[in-house]
Amino acid sequence: MSKGYMGKILWVDLSKGLLEEETIADEIYERFLAGYGLGAKILFDRMEAGVDPLGPDNILGFVAGLLTGTGALFSGRWQVVGKSPLTGGWGDANCGGDFAPAIKRTGYDGIFFKGKSPKPVYLLIDGDEKKLVDAGDLWGTDAIDTEDALQQKHGKGFRVAAIGQGGEKLSLISGIVNAGGRISARSGLGAVMGSKNLKAVCLKGKARIPIHDQKQVLALSKAFRQRLGRDEVVDKVFTGGVVGIMGRVLKYFKTQPAMAGELFKFTLRVWGTPGIAAMSAENGDSPVKNWKGVGFRDFPLTTRSKNIGDDAVTAHQTKKYACHSCPLSCGGKCSVKSGRYPLAETHKPEYESLCALGTLVLVDDLEQIFHANELLNRAGIDSISAGATIAWAFECFERGLLTEKDTDGLRLTWGNGEAMVACVEKIIAGEGFGALLKDGVRRAAEKLGKGSDQWAIHAGGQELPMHDGRFDAGYGLAYEVEPTPGRHTIASYTYGDLMNLGSQTKQVGKTKLFHGPSDRYGVHGKGQEMSVLSAFADVINGCGMCIFGVSVGGNPPVTDWINATTGWHRTFDELLDVGRRIKAIRQAFNIREGIAPKDTKMPHRARGVPALEAGPNKGITPPFDELARDYYLAMGWDPSSGKPMSHTLDRLGLPEVKEAFAKLSG
Ligand code: SF4
Repeated sequence: MSKGYMGKILWVDLSKGLLEEETIADEIYERFLAGYGLGAKILFDRMEAGVDPLGPDNILGFVAGLLTGTGALFSGRWQVVGKSPLTGGWGDANCGGDFAPAIKRTGYDGIFFKGKSPKPVYLLIDGDEKKLVDAGDLWGTDAIDTEDALQQKHGKGFRVAAIGQGGEKLSLISGIVNAGGRISARSGLGAVMGSKNLKAVCLKGKARIPIHDQKQVLALSKAFRQRLGRDEVVDKVFTGGVVGIMGRVLKYFKTQPAMAGELFKFTLRVWGTPGIAAMSAENGDSPVKNWKGVGFRDFPLTTRSKNIGDDAVTAHQTKKYACHSCPLSCGGKCSVKSGRYPLAETHKPEYESLCALGTLVLVDDLEQIFHANELLNRAGIDSISAGATIAWAFECFERGLLTEKDTDGLRLTWGNGEAMVACVEKIIAGEGFGALLKDGVRRAAEKLGKGSDQWAIHAGGQELPMHDGRFDAGYGLAYEVEPTPGRHTIASYTYGDLMNLGSQTKQVGKTKLFHGPSDRYGVHGKGQEMSVLSAFADVINGCGMCIFGVSVGGNPPVTDWINATTGWHRTFDELLDVGRRIKAIRQAFNIREGIAPKDTKMPHRARGVPALEAGPNKGITPPFDELARDYYLAMGWDPSSGKPMSHTLDRLGLPEVKEAFAKLSG
C-alpha cells in the first residue's frame, strides 16, 4: 500500500500519441523517495547515454515530491528532469506555485514524456480523461498568455505549465513556466519541451493522496507553524530598513548561529528574497560587474544597490502570495504604475533576477529590471542565465571584442539599462545579436572566440547564480561538484548556518555547521559538512520541499513529516543516506555521459584567480580543489573522475549503477 506517494507514473509517447500508466514498486520510493529522486531513477534506467538532449530519445519528466499534498509545510515545489541541452548532463529545475499538488492529484507521482509530436500539442488531464490536444493555435504565444488561454478554455481550476518563445525557439537557457510567470528555469529544459513540440501540460485531478497518519502530519505542521510565528527576538534586531540593521544582523550571524535562520525567516516574510539584494552587493555575496567589480566601489549601497532591493522593490508590491502549503509568503505581485515600462501586474523579481539583471551589469533602474524580468518570464527564459550572458557581452564590448557592428547598434556600457533591456528582447527573438546570446554564455563565448571564454562565468555550461564563491566558498564548491552544476539551492556554508543541522546528524560529529567569516576559507572538515548538506538537499528535493522553508530556523521536522506520511521509521541519518543515493545516481548519469570534475570547474575569475584587489572578497582565492577533493571523498566518490566508488555503490545499494559502470569499462 503506497503512502504519501501515488505509486504510479504516466508515460506519454509523443511520437505515437500514446498514454500509458506504469506502476512503481514501493521499494523504489523507499530507495529514492519521489520528486527528482524518482526522476533520476527513471531517467538513469530508461535512457541510453549519449542521446541528443533535443532529440526524441530524451525523456522529460514532471515530478512531484513525496510530501507534496500531504499537509507537510514547504512541500509545494514541482520539478522537471531531463538530459540538459545546456550542460550535456543531468538536468533538473524546480519551481513553486501549486503545480506540484496538481501533478499528484492526477493520480501520478510523475508524468514522463518521450518521443516528439509531429505537431504542437498540449497534454490535458481532466480527472480520468487524459489526452493530447492540438496546440497549433497556441504556438507563438507567450507562456503567461498560454496559461490564461488554457484556463479560459478548460476552467480556472486547471494548473498549467507551459513554454514561451524561449522553449519554442530551443533557446538553451529556456525553462518551463507556471503560475503566471514563475519558472522552472535552470538546465535549459524549456528547450527540451520545445524540441518535443509540447507546448503545455494542463492538469486538474481529484485523486486522493494516501497518507499513513494524516493527523500526525498536520499536528507537526501546526506546531512548526506556531514556532514560526514567534518573532520577538528578531523584532529586536530588525528595526528600520535593511541598511540600518546590517551591523546588528552581522553581529548576530557572528555570535548566534541559531539566530541565522530566524533572521532569514524575517527577511523572507517582510521582503521576500529582494530583502538581501542591496546588502549582498555590499557584503560580497552577489557578484558585481560580471564578477570583476566591487560593490561599495562600483555599485554603492547608499546610491545604487539600494535602488534594486528590499523597500524599493516592495514599494511596488500590491499583494503577497505563498506557494502551496507554505506559511512564509515570500512571493509578491507588483505593479509599475508609470514610466516607460508600466506593468499592471508582474511577479516581484527574485533576488537572483535583481542581481543578474542589475548588480551584474550595474543597472540600478528598477523599472528596467521589472520590465526585463517580465519579458523573460513571458518568454520562459532563465533570468540568471540571461543576465550572466548579457554581462559577458558588456565586458566583451568594453574590451573591444564586440562593437556596435556586432550588437545591432547597441552600446553595451556598464549601467546602460536600455541596452540590457534590448539584449533581453534580442535573446527572446533569437535573431541578429540575439542569435549570439540566446543559448547562454558558454555557447556565445565559443562562437565569438578571441579569448572571451575567460569572462564567460559558468560551471559546465550553466551560468553561475548570484552568490559568489569568493564570499562563501561553499556555494562555489557546490557549483563545481553538484551533478547539476551551477546550482545555488543545494549546499553552502550559509545554508549550513541557516539550517544548523549539526544537532540532527551524527555524520559530522559535534560540528555545528556554522561558519563565521573567519571560518569560511578553511578546508578541514568542510568536505564532510558539505556532503551532509548536499545529501540533505537531495532529501528535500525528493520530498518536493523548498530549501528556504528548511532554512528558517527551528529545525523543521522533516524526518517526522516523512515518517508520519509514509509509515516508515527512518532516522535523520538514514534519510541522509537516501539523499546520498539520489545524489549518486544523478552523478552516475553524468559519468555515463563522460562528464568529469574538470568539466564543471568555474572559470579562473570566479575561483578568485587572480583575487580581487578591493572589497570584502579582497585577496580571497578559496581552496576549491582541496575542498572538492574532500567533498568527493566524503561522498565516497573518486576525486579525479567524480565516479561513485564501488564500496559506496554497495553501501547505498545501487547495483544498477555498478552494472552500468561495468559496461562502460568493459
Ligand atoms: S519560502 Fe517562498 S518560495 Fe519557498 S515555498 Fe514558501 S513562498 Fe514558496
